[in-house]
Amino acid sequence: MINMNDFIAEDESLRTAELNAVDRVLHSGWYVLGSEVKTFEAAWAKCCGTAYAVGVGNGMDAIEIGLRALGIGAGDEVIAPSMTAFPTVLAIIRAGATPVLADVNPNTALLDPKSVARCISIKTKAVLLVHLYGHIQNMEAWKMLANNYNIALLEDCAQSHAARWNDGVAGSFGQFGAYSFYPTKNLGAIGDAGAIISHDALFIEQARVLRNYGQTIRYHHGELGLNSRLDELQAAILTIRLEYLNIFTQRRQEIADYYFQHIANKNIELLAKPKQIGSHVYHLFVIRCKERDRLMNYLSSKGVHTLIHYPVPIHQQRPCKQLRCDPNGLAVTEDHAETCLSIPCHPQMTNDALIMVTKAINAFE
Ligand SMILES: *Cc1c(COP(=O)(O)O)cnc(C)c1O
Repeated sequence: MINMNDFIAEDESLRTAELNAVDRVLHSGWYVLGSEVKTFEAAWAKCCGTAYAVGVGNGMDAIEIGLRALGIGAGDEVIAPSMTAFPTVLAIIRAGATPVLADVNPNTALLDPKSVARCISIKTKAVLLVHLYGHIQNMEAWKMLANNYNIALLEDCAQSHAARWNDGVAGSFGQFGAYSFYPTKNLGAIGDAGAIISHDALFIEQARVLRNYGQTIRYHHGELGLNSRLDELQAAILTIRLEYLNIFTQRRQEIADYYFQHIANKNIELLAKPKQIGSHVYHLFVIRCKERDRLMNYLSSKGVHTLIHYPVPIHQQRPCKQLRCDPNGLAVTEDHAETCLSIPCHPQMTNDALIMVTKAINAFE
């Protein structure tokens, strides 16, 4: 079976470095929010080109804490795509704000600025971009749109680790970037982990307070915060794995290039190629097919595992059916949900597997 991920196939040298890091943490006798977290926060901020990074429990909390640190909550609206992972929108709701759902561009499945404009109201406080599948683009235009409407620009970077647009890295363009280090993400821990990045010292101070019960000084609470701390074990593992991020990303991009060059089947569409080198880090390689479910079963019968990101858009999820959406509807999102399919694209994928997947896709009729 060719899987969507293969951690077991990772380098022995990586495993050894991780085991040494685990040993170091166990011997330190300090397990939550310590020097390993500080080291990783500094390394991650440097990688992203921001002054600061704050380690938190997971990617969903990163978004919630970011919103709350900006003072966005009850009575405020945040525009987000309906074609995203559920936690994007759940985090907005958990922060007390109201999500408003916009449509996406059919060629990229990324937020459509015209749809966002139709969603704006006097209550709109922010637009939360999702660099879906690892793809970031048009950040000048997004900054301008946010400026014109006088709203905050926020980035859900859970799928776009170190993706670059011009001179900037994902998460460094808006008021904050929220990262997830869930194991399957491009940079993954061996459990849950996340981070918030920003250029703004005061915002970061507030995020640090919120991740730890709203504690300002030990046992003094100025806010009702969360318990969303990063632990030393995950931070130590992440520091090691960060050294591999570049080569892992390059392999994902190589695989994507191969798919672009070799997938040829009139029943199958590819999404748009990125406009810049490095602006897509291929967390997922997504194809589209009118008979998606039949293709999925066919590939499974050929030993190729696939997944759907995402089969049910947010506005069709039971707790979200009442949310306000683009007044023109979310037709592109709905069509994408019915036709999209993520095929294997991960750093440990071999050339043999790549050729096999491509041949199987091309033989589908
Ligand atoms: C994974 C993911 C999240 C949530 O991250 P967790 O660490 O699982 O909480 C949020 N948004 C997107 C787009 C994701 O892919």
